[in-house]
Amino acid sequence: MVQTADSSPIIQAENLTKVYRSGKIEVQAVRGVSFAVPRGEFVAIVGPSGSGKSTLFYLLGGLTRASSGRVVIDGVDFATLDDAARTRLRRQRIGFVFQRFNLLPTLSAMGNVEIAYDISGQKEPMDRAYLDHLSDLLSIQGRLVHRPNELSGGEQQRVAIARALITRPAIILADEPTGNLDTKNSDAVLSMLRRSNKELGQTTLMITHNMEAAAIADRILQVRDGMILSDTRTRFASAPAGHPPAVPPSVAGD
Ligand code: ADP
Ligand code: MG
Repeated sequence: MVQTADSSPIIQAENLTKVYRSGKIEVQAVRGVSFAVPRGEFVAIVGPSGSGKSTLFYLLGGLTRASSGRVVIDGVDFATLDDAARTRLRRQRIGFVFQRFNLLPTLSAMGNVEIAYDISGQKEPMDRAYLDHLSDLLSIQGRLVHRPNELSGGEQQRVAIARALITRPAIILADEPTGNLDTKNSDAVLSMLRRSNKELGQTTLMITHNMEAAAIADRILQVRDGMILSDTRTRFASAPAGHPPAVPPSVAGD
């Protein structure tokens, strides 16, 4: 994990709520969620379908506005920003990984990474050596010339992770990144997310309904009905100063 002098949390959720309304129907998808994530931590948010995980992902990524409460990214409260500034903050600080990969079908894998880099508004041209490094890390060397439909699901997701990492974001947000993958590809993607978190140091927040996938994290937040049920540190947690000591993971037989 890359250590920085700044010990303030990089992600803070404060009493977050989200209510969806259509006509007279109201769904309270997120109901008073608060937590803070220190820099470099790998957090899994786990819960059953419909528990509000994706809504939380959209809120934390600034893709939707909270009904109440705050999301503070690196000291900046999303609510204080207009849409343009919010988009800028998101593109500079956050890399997104989605369940359905969301690669552009007409572009090669390389083209998908390049276009993501271009729209992120970086001042420097894309660092080709860094892309080579990511390709090694993610084992997609030789696959970059191919279009998404010529790649396996696991390869597409690893390209999507390279696309998320190319701008060196401080944060990776992944919503069910292994949801469309078989066990073998799922294991590969999980270990690569874990490895990139360790080697490149970005804070990673992974959403999953799968307790086994969650067990690779430093910390597991369990959600039910839009609320946090438990906040557990796993045996992988490095327990930096000021943190509670690691406790055994409560992953068995959930
Ligand atoms: P999860 O990702 O854990 O399956 P979601 O955040 O997608 O959960 O959904 C939480 C709740 O909010 C569910 O009851 C879902 O039906 C509802 N919901 C999600 N998105 C919308 C939306 N755009 N409009 C109305 N209700 C929604
Ligand atoms: Mg979801």
